[in-house]
Amino acid sequence: MAADGPRDAAFDVAVIGAGAAGMMCAAVAGQRGRRVVLIDHARRLAEKIRISGGGRCNFTNRDAGPANFISGNPHFCRSALSRYTPRDFLALVARHRIAWHEKHRGQLFCDESSEDIIRMLRAECDAGGVAWRMPCTVESVERGDAGFMLRTSSGAIGAERVVIATGGLPVAQIGASDFGLRIARQFGLKIVEPRPALVPLTFDAASWQPFVPLAGVALEVDIRTGSGRGAASFREDLLFTHRGLSGPAVLQISSYWQPGEPIVIDLAPDVDLVADLLAAKAGGRQHLANVLAGMVPRRLAEQWLAAAHPGLGEQRIADLPDKALRQVAEGMKRWTLTPSGTEGYRKAEVMRGGVDTRGLDQQTMEAKAVPGLHFIGEVVDVTGWLGGYNFQWAWASGVACGQAV
Ligand SMILES: Cc1cc2nc3c(=O)[nH]c(=O)nc-3n(C[C@H](O)[C@H](O)[C@H](O)COP(=O)(O)OP(=O)(O)OC[C@H]3O[C@@H](n4cnc5c(N)ncnc54)[C@H](O)[C@@H]3O)c2cc1C
Repeated sequence: MAADGPRDAAFDVAVIGAGAAGMMCAAVAGQRGRRVVLIDHARRLAEKIRISGGGRCNFTNRDAGPANFISGNPHFCRSALSRYTPRDFLALVARHRIAWHEKHRGQLFCDESSEDIIRMLRAECDAGGVAWRMPCTVESVERGDAGFMLRTSSGAIGAERVVIATGGLPVAQIGASDFGLRIARQFGLKIVEPRPALVPLTFDAASWQPFVPLAGVALEVDIRTGSGRGAASFREDLLFTHRGLSGPAVLQISSYWQPGEPIVIDLAPDVDLVADLLAAKAGGRQHLANVLAGMVPRRLAEQWLAAAHPGLGEQRIADLPDKALRQVAEGMKRWTLTPSGTEGYRKAEVMRGGVDTRGLDQQTMEAKAVPGLHFIGEVVDVTGWLGGYNFQWAWASGVACGQAV
């Protein structure tokens, strides 16, 4: 994208990061009459929006509210989320005549392509007369008497206010960087330790070996982790992989999982497996694996029994003691396992942690100790569930900031 404006220039607002939050913020500020420059180091615009939602961008969730977000300071996101709601974003989408549909649980996707959302945000930036510097590397950000001075590969840029919208650490291949965290540290802000979230969980190779034949099996489960205030549970689809577990259920729980802690999975929710197996025993001539295959997917029944209770599946259910049936049923209802780790930032959809919100103003996203410096989007310690929530936070924090700068 061509740089417009003079090489050395002064603006009211410099937004660093032209992703979801940055473009939204720049558009809103520009349309308020602020002179805005939007800077990004990537060659292609908004790659994360492009690849999101399998190319169709799950751009919001109809039911998004503070309860769908994880943060060291859970109330922080309330203000921005209530001032810019999914309905507001839908109104914008409607103005740009973008067709969309609801998948499940309030998840809203483009009918055609996530490119529609990128085009919409570009058009909104154009309507606000936003100047672009892209690709452009920001070498330093310094504070002076009259605001900030940025040294960049496209020359010096002066700005009264700087907005950091450089996102989280996942997927460095498409431009993610730790820039936002470095700037936060440079200006003395605290960081909540970042970690990959919405990410597949892995297990050590030896303990996972018996479950490898289940790779590809998918089913709806209840999944939980933690206890007390740290407890979380979801009903979603689980996917077995060669290295561990994935699918929405695991992505959701991964955001709450603490290293070293177990996760607990009910592989047959809504089925009273103990009662059903004991009932099937009376006069049952079938093998246990066949009986179980009537209650859960066949491959799961066969392979899970082979892995967890070798030899039992081939025995006739009538010949098995109640105790063994109870053990099988309870093992499937409360399958407890401790992941060794996650697939990391290469496969994570978001970063947990980030700039500590206790140092930010919830109305304006401005650093309390550094007037004129704002942080929005994923770089902030507000992490949404899977299902359009992270974009809603990007839009809402971008709008809150764009209205304030
Ligand atoms: C595979 C995948 C699928 C996803 N699908 C969804 C989905 O369907 N729904 C949903 O809600 N969320 C989804 N997410 C999460 C969502 O994409 C992010 O939470 C969201 O994009 C965050 O917005 P942001 O503006 O904070 O950061 P980003 O959109 O990541 O934008 C950050 C921008 O900053 C730029 N940047 C980074 N470092 C620098 C630097 N040093 N200098 C200059 N520029 C820099 C980047 O190039 C980028 O353009 C998905 C994520 C991934 C990885």
